[in-house]
Amino acid sequence: MWQPNLESLDRDQLEQLQLTRLRETLARIAAHNRDYYARLGSPRVEAFTSLDAIRALPLLTKKDLRDAYPYGLACAPHQDFARMQMISGTTGKPVICPYTKNDIAQWREIMARCYTAAGVTGADIIQITPSMGLPNGGFGFHFGAEEIGAFYIPIGPGRTLLQFQLMQDLGATVLTAIATYPIRLIEAAREENFDFGKSSLRVGIFGSEMWSDELRKKIENSMGIETFDIIGMTETGGVGMGIDCAAHQGVHIWQDHYLVEIVNPKTGDVLDDGAEGELVITTLTREAFPMIRYRTGDITRVLAREQCACERTHIRIDRFRGRTDDMIIYKGVNFYPSQIETLLLKHDGVAADYQIVLAHDPRGNETMDIVVEVSAPLSSDQVARIQRELYDFVGLTVEPQFVKQGELPRAPGKAVRVIDKRNA
Ligand SMILES: [Zn+2]
Repeated sequence: MWQPNLESLDRDQLEQLQLTRLRETLARIAAHNRDYYARLGSPRVEAFTSLDAIRALPLLTKKDLRDAYPYGLACAPHQDFARMQMISGTTGKPVICPYTKNDIAQWREIMARCYTAAGVTGADIIQITPSMGLPNGGFGFHFGAEEIGAFYIPIGPGRTLLQFQLMQDLGATVLTAIATYPIRLIEAAREENFDFGKSSLRVGIFGSEMWSDELRKKIENSMGIETFDIIGMTETGGVGMGIDCAAHQGVHIWQDHYLVEIVNPKTGDVLDDGAEGELVITTLTREAFPMIRYRTGDITRVLAREQCACERTHIRIDRFRGRTDDMIIYKGVNFYPSQIETLLLKHDGVAADYQIVLAHDPRGNETMDIVVEVSAPLSSDQVARIQRELYDFVGLTVEPQFVKQGELPRAPGKAVRVIDKRNA
């Protein structure tokens, strides 16, 4: 199934293929799930003569997916289900994503493409640190590694000393992880005197969390590797929907499998290329759990539709700036934690961990504390500069607290950047 030749189709061919596959997907929904089809307004498939026609269909939200638990949006007979992945949340029902055999083959293909775009081949040794469980990450990296014929180490997260031992003794060349996990490894390496320079590691493929360019630089410098930003989520069939290539000029999304729109998060209106908004994805080849106009919550913009320096023609979007649900509104000012991260991590001595705590003081006024770990004490000049930059950015005086590295609590899994006690 792996079709790397489709990665450099010209734009007309690509859009024609997308249109054909969009119609097939709508026909599949009509044939297998009348409720889902009715929800779309029972559109006539023949009426889809251009990709823009999709704009008449309603947007789909994560709440819709939760409300459809377990199989309300499924579009394949249950006997065709081969496996599932799941999103659990702190509130509401989980989202179950069933896969048919063809869906697994699709996942293998897109993950094989992602590895290849990152310069990974069958000669590599891949250390897979996302868990092999209900979240999709570990299995995605596993399927792709099988597809390209690489040797892989399915270690999962945690067990840091074993991570170092296997990385060293088995000669891992590629590390795959959620984006802040490398920070934990770098921290542990310092404590254990593990030297990444003596390992064979050369490539890191990270995703699933927002990580700024500044954090990326820190990870690359500390580990001595080139990193690649991979995207994809359970709702779209798992990790591997796209990745930035060696040109690092935006994140390619595999357009023969996914239709990309960027919408205004408030109005849902489609935005022009270049304008920042919410990524909306329509899956074009998925059988058991096709998504039509799914609101991903990720904030980005279309960077280019022209052929990339890597020769791939697939659309490039910007690295994610944040999520619609992690935008901070403080005293009427809107911003994303990533913007604070970018500002802080530019400064020497600032470590990769920080926390933004929002609360109310006894008089009911909003307060924002920014606690920042530093690897060495900052000079008063540096502190003044950071404060000035924060003032310029939010237009309000913020006095960050600087603490020693390791003082902030470490959460298992994704990093906790913002604690909002205002509605507690
Ligand atoms: Zn490229």
